[in-house]
Amino acid sequence: MKLVAAVDVGGTSIKSALVDSDLRIIGTATAPTPIADIDGSKTVKAISELLSQLAAPGEIKAVGLAVPGALDEEGGLSRWSGNLQWKNLPIRDLLAREINIPVAFGHDVRTGALAELRSGAAQGVKNAIFIPIGTGIAAALIIDGAIRSSDGFAGEIGHVNIGAPFLCVCGKNGCLEAAASALAISNTYSSATGTTGVSSEEIAQRANTGDLVAQKIWSDAMHSISLACQMLITILAPEVIIFGGGLSQSGNSLLDPIEKELKENLTFQRVPKLVIAHYGAQAGTIGCAMMALDLLASGRN
Ligand SMILES: [Zn+2]
Repeated sequence: MKLVAAVDVGGTSIKSALVDSDLRIIGTATAPTPIADIDGSKTVKAISELLSQLAAPGEIKAVGLAVPGALDEEGGLSRWSGNLQWKNLPIRDLLAREINIPVAFGHDVRTGALAELRSGAAQGVKNAIFIPIGTGIAAALIIDGAIRSSDGFAGEIGHVNIGAPFLCVCGKNGCLEAAASALAISNTYSSATGTTGVSSEEIAQRANTGDLVAQKIWSDAMHSISLACQMLITILAPEVIIFGGGLSQSGNSLLDPIEKELKENLTFQRVPKLVIAHYGAQAGTIGCAMMALDLLASGRN
């Protein structure tokens, strides 16, 4: 059985997993994402270290690497990532050189969408939008049965202006990501209460049990996500919107207020089904493993 590694470089942590050819996750290892690693050198070293924790040398036949931001997927380039502070960084080849293993490269959100499209919540659906919400927010656009990225630039829904008074990593005010990412929700709660380190999941629970500050912050965030969904629905008419990432662990606390607001505000548009990702927060991992297995099957490695 062939083993591959899935590596997802997020704004906060690098998550890696050893996956077999039946897409079973055999082991996982996580490390903090190096801060402001503008030349990527610390990041590739951290990934190499994670792989050595997952398997013995020679066992991993390919790596599926996913990163956030605007990418040149064919060229293996990160064009821009606000959270990672990367600009035109050839991260795929830097990693392949460091570990001497073939690397398949993709966008963190579109790899998750690949998993959902092939065998998850978007299976058999022609038009869907996958929105993982973690440190950042982006969308993968499944249009007419294929994941579209417009040369890697499309889907950056985290940076549409929803009018909230927060400064974003991209340098603009009002972005969705600055108002409603799991990190933003947690930061807003900590500024309001002085209590740091409360996760978005915990804030949703506190909102459900009568914490008025948590209620206000949660409902503002859900309103922001709903506004962004209304834009996506009006332009792209998805049949399903799939929420993933850390925030999706809040389940109905996430889905219900957004669904209610959509029903109240959409007029002529097709109202999509709102669901949590089949693979939950693991969609990206499974998608990365699929990319790595595809690379091996293609014989291009
Ligand atoms: Zn922004």
